Amino acid sequence: MRVGIGYDSHRFEPGRLLVLGGVHVPEHPGLKGHSDGDAVAHALTDALLGAAALGDIGQHFPDTDDRWSGANSMELLAATVRLIEQHNYQVVNADITVVTESPPIRPWVDAIAESLATRLRIARTSISIKGKTNEGLGWIGRGEGLAVMAVALLDQIGDIDTLHASIRTGG
Ligand code: MG
Repeated sequence: MRVGIGYDSHRFEPGRLLVLGGVHVPEHPGLKGHSDGDAVAHALTDALLGAAALGDIGQHFPDTDDRWSGANSMELLAATVRLIEQHNYQVVNADITVVTESPPIRPWVDAIAESLATRLRIARTSISIKGKTNEGLGWIGRGEGLAVMAVALLDQIGDIDTLHASIRTGG
């Protein structure tokens, strides 16, 4: 088992769509960013990469690269899941906290968890999303942007040849 942590923050920018975990949250300014600014997807991507010790999101999807301009961050998350699977890991669960004064996160919890579970290829019940305000403090309290923290647990998928060998030897 391996645990990883991820963090991301983005500034709100009027005129952009707000997308959190691949879900469009209407009637609220979106997040400024080279990609779609999906801070939930970004923090979770970093948690997965961190758990597998495979670097960080900026290394794999640099914002200096035009390939990722306006990118759908859920595609980057899906690519990251494929990468960790190539390294013989599977996702066990993820826990995510969104810190923002607005919009309220609770009405979106189920939709975001469904959206993430599909990309992570795990059950909806293995994803937790929590919303918190920052009690009016600092830049989050002034409504300038939001921050996301994510923790993910990975399990090593046994190499099938090793498994067969251990069955043969009774190990
Ligand atoms: Mg980001």
